[in-house]
Amino acid sequence: MHDALTDDAPIVQLIDVRKSFGTLEVLRGISFDVRRGEVVCIIGPSGSGKSTLIRCINALVPVTSGTIRVAGIEVADPKLDVLALRRRVGMVFQQYNLFPHKTALQNVMMAPIHVLGQERRAVEARARALMNKVRLAGKEDAYPGELSGGQQQRVAIARSLAMRPDVMLFDEVTAALDPETVKEVLATIRELAEDGMTCLLVTHEMNFAREIADHVYFTDRGVIVEHGPPDRLFAAAQDERTRRFLSQVL
Ligand code: ADP
Ligand code: MG
Repeated sequence: MHDALTDDAPIVQLIDVRKSFGTLEVLRGISFDVRRGEVVCIIGPSGSGKSTLIRCINALVPVTSGTIRVAGIEVADPKLDVLALRRRVGMVFQQYNLFPHKTALQNVMMAPIHVLGQERRAVEARARALMNKVRLAGKEDAYPGELSGGQQQRVAIARSLAMRPDVMLFDEVTAALDPETVKEVLATIRELAEDGMTCLLVTHEMNFAREIADHVYFTDRGVIVEHGPPDRLFAAAQDERTRRFLSQVL
């Protein structure tokens, strides 16, 4: 579809992205690339603009200026085909927002059937495989209210995967979970990453970021302060702001 879209081309590309809410400039020139199969983590203090950034990539928030490309799609294009973008980009938030009156399996099946118009039987087979993949085999018929927070979050991940995205965005997906269910969600994300899914994660789980990321970006007040492979960033941060942040969270 795009000549530039070779295997080497970044699947996500941001060039000098800026975003203001009124007079508050929340993103002040963010540029980075994510390549296919890479796991990229964004860390930084609350209020840095991390959620805004993730929301801009998925066109939930319009950028003020700059360029965002996802799988060759120009996200800031006024003629953006939002559905085309959403097929490429899966997104999981802190609030999983499952439909409470639908079973786990039905939640996973909904978008492919209702948004993409895919055939029910094929969708169901895939949804069952995805429930298995997120280690929830046996919970297909449970309603969200009957599942733990961690289980609901894994249903939300399966629901995103059902659209067969090229890239998954995760925004603090374990932040609202009980400590004992955090691990199982992180394990699911780790398996996805190991399977080769391109993942862009905002996380405050520093040990997890250190373990799974190919590259880590430290952001503060709307700019990338410093970035690098996790071993270097966590062990030998160059910038005082990064060191201060890490000393508070590690
Ligand atoms: P983070 O995820 O790093 O904590 P956010 O992207 O949520 O940061 O927020 C960055 C800043 O932008 C905060 O000051 C927040 O209050 C502000 N902000 C976020 N969304 C909006 C909005 N829709 N309208 C106005 N201000 C917003
Ligand atoms: Mg946030």
